[in-house]
Amino acid sequence: MPAQAEILTRIARQSARPADIAAHLGVSAASASDSISSLVAKGLALRLPDPEDGRAQRLLPTEAGLCLAEKLTAAPTAVQGALAALPSQDQAALLRALTLIIRTLQEARAIPVQRMCVTCRHFRPRVHANADHPHHCAFVDAAFGDASLRLDCGEHEAALAEEAAALWRRFDAA
Ligand code: SF4
Repeated sequence: MPAQAEILTRIARQSARPADIAAHLGVSAASASDSISSLVAKGLALRLPDPEDGRAQRLLPTEAGLCLAEKLTAAPTAVQGALAALPSQDQAALLRALTLIIRTLQEARAIPVQRMCVTCRHFRPRVHANADHPHHCAFVDAAFGDASLRLDCGEHEAALAEEAAALWRRFDAA
């Protein structure tokens, strides 16, 4: 069910090919296909021919699927509101702890890989002397702090395994 919710919220933002969905979730094509079939059987998604590739399909949400996706994203938005009310030091500590937990779960293959700063080839951890903004995002060419660490960034590009390990060592060297 979490996979179906993830797929539904993803295609509500933008239609996607099954192969891209499998890559996003970090699961096999067969496993993604099972979740997609369940969504289609529940009337929440449609498989349509891909206009850019006659042999491929794209997955789109139905009206019911869009309604459900809105409800699914409402809860995280409420959580984000509560987080925004915290003092910035607490936000930074919480995000840093979350990043650590998610990475540990990913390494144990308990959850799919997320598009987090600490696995992104644009991430430059601890390159600035500024204690509030020690990191740098090469994509937007800007410094930022732990409170702005991204857990699911649209501009994320996965670093190679060795590069990601080095990024983590530097990030975790505090
Ligand atoms: S592109 Fe996104 S994930 Fe990558 S470093 Fe910049 S903010 Fe983080």
